[in-house]
Amino acid sequence: MNFKKYIRDINDFPKKGIVYKDISPLLGNSEAMKAAADALVENIKDQKIDKVVGIESRGFFMATLLAERLGAGFVPIRKPGKLPYKTFTESYDLEYGTDQLEIHQDAILPGERVILHDDVLATGGTAEAAVKLIKKLGGELIESNFLIELEFLKGREKIKTSPVQSLMKF
Ligand code: IMP
Repeated sequence: MNFKKYIRDINDFPKKGIVYKDISPLLGNSEAMKAAADALVENIKDQKIDKVVGIESRGFFMATLLAERLGAGFVPIRKPGKLPYKTFTESYDLEYGTDQLEIHQDAILPGERVILHDDVLATGGTAEAAVKLIKKLGGELIESNFLIELEFLKGREKIKTSPVQSLMKF
């Protein structure tokens, strides 16, 4: 399937000068969404996977579909103050300033086999922080996957200690 035709470019969102990749048309099309989830699990579907970790908030949509296909549980990584139970926190750099991500301390057991998913891999700062949280809990990261990779930002470099897969490269 030509997935790229379901991705919409939005100019100057969320800030002037940024071209934002909008995955809403893909999510809104039942065939495209199903095909995207099938394609993302294709190379890992015969592996034993315990948890699929999704990054707030657009990572959640596909991560739950991947978890269902892989017979795994779903784990959310969220912005600070959103998770109700005890958390671990990781900071990461933004263009201006820093941000943080959190995970529940009991979300992954030591040795569990984990897939990380987010919608877009840009500079890789977000995914790198998520990888650190997974490793802090003792998870074994089998693959990080993304619907979209903005290759010119070289985010892959920050998380290449384990395999990285993206459905669409721009
Ligand atoms: P990074 O930390 O620079 O790799 O940015 C990745 C994070 O920002 C992900 O959680 C994405 O959801 C979000 N993001 C960055 N660029 C885009 C975009 O063009 N469309 C949608 N989300 C984006």
